[in-house]
Amino acid sequence: MNRSTAAGPDILLVKSGGPASLPEWQDAFGALLPGLRVLWWDDAAVVPEAVAYALVWEPTPGRLAQFPNLRIIFSSAAGVDHIVSDPTLPARVPIVRMASEETAQTVAEFVCLGALALLRDLPRMIAAQAARRWDSFDAARTAPQTRVSILGMGNLGTRAARMLRGLGFQVSGWGRTARIVDGMAVTAGDDELARLMARTDILVGLLPDTPMTRGLICAHRIAWLPAGAGLVNAGRGSLVVMDDLLAALDSGQLGGAVLDVFEAEPLPPSAPAWRHPRILATSHVAGFASRRARAAYVAGVIAGFARGERPAHLYQPARGY
Ligand code: NAP
Repeated sequence: MNRSTAAGPDILLVKSGGPASLPEWQDAFGALLPGLRVLWWDDAAVVPEAVAYALVWEPTPGRLAQFPNLRIIFSSAAGVDHIVSDPTLPARVPIVRMASEETAQTVAEFVCLGALALLRDLPRMIAAQAARRWDSFDAARTAPQTRVSILGMGNLGTRAARMLRGLGFQVSGWGRTARIVDGMAVTAGDDELARLMARTDILVGLLPDTPMTRGLICAHRIAWLPAGAGLVNAGRGSLVVMDDLLAALDSGQLGGAVLDVFEAEPLPPSAPAWRHPRILATSHVAGFASRRARAAYVAGVIAGFARGERPAHLYQPARGY
């Protein structure tokens, strides 16, 4: 194994996809930034001073603090909670969130899948097939008759909103700041959230995990929805108080839920969400991006940074995401 020196080429350390994925990362970056050395996260031959960049998913706590010349930490995913939970994280190093084109496309596809599943009552169809029971029924409404509200109109929420609108849904959004996005109203604040939820048939969670968003979807706020409304959560599991969600499904206040993310992942086999007849539970699969697409995004940021540009999609500690 070559030993890098502080004066040698910049090193990008990778911890995403397991050690077997390293050749694919090296190929992808080699084609884009041939001057960069791409090495695995715990390669014992790495000189810490030579590490300029790190691309990580769930980095081992304490490791990122060992590189004195680290310039940028890249999250291999859109969320950064798996990085900032490390108390030793060097505060001086910017963290860039993954915002590849493919991530936005795939999350938006998943949200449409979830909204259509709730609209057409896919859980009922799955139950009928499992019981080999012919169960002919009509949907309560069509997409143009269905109001979808997206909590979190950022990179992913905006893409999902456009795709849902393309399917005919009536789409509104909610975020930290009120604005109009492509003609769609985005409101902000708890009062507006109450008003929005009162006219929502399907609520979509695409919020990051922050102290402000944790537990937002609780019994108190679920009661703001019209009875029988649906929920699609593809942001973070911490958004939802699971016991409150289960109670609302049992009482009929919620008609169904499509959940891709959970407070504890992997969701344990004993979790009620696996078995509830009104829940479609998936294994944090909404968003994905190929290594090539993620490498292209990271390489673009590194090249821009070298030209003195400030990276977009920076984690901002003050706002928590
Ligand atoms: P983003 O571009 O940063 O957007 C976040 C949005 O959330 C912004 O619109 C922001 O509002 C809003 N927001 C943040 N804190 C808020 C608060 N306290 N109250 C109201 N709105 C708030 O993030 P993104 O790229 O869209 O990703 C969103 C999340 O999706 C990620 O953090 C990640 O956890 C999750 N994710 C999940 C998957 C999956 O496979 N399930 C894949 C990728 C990402 P403003 O615009 O007004 O600031």
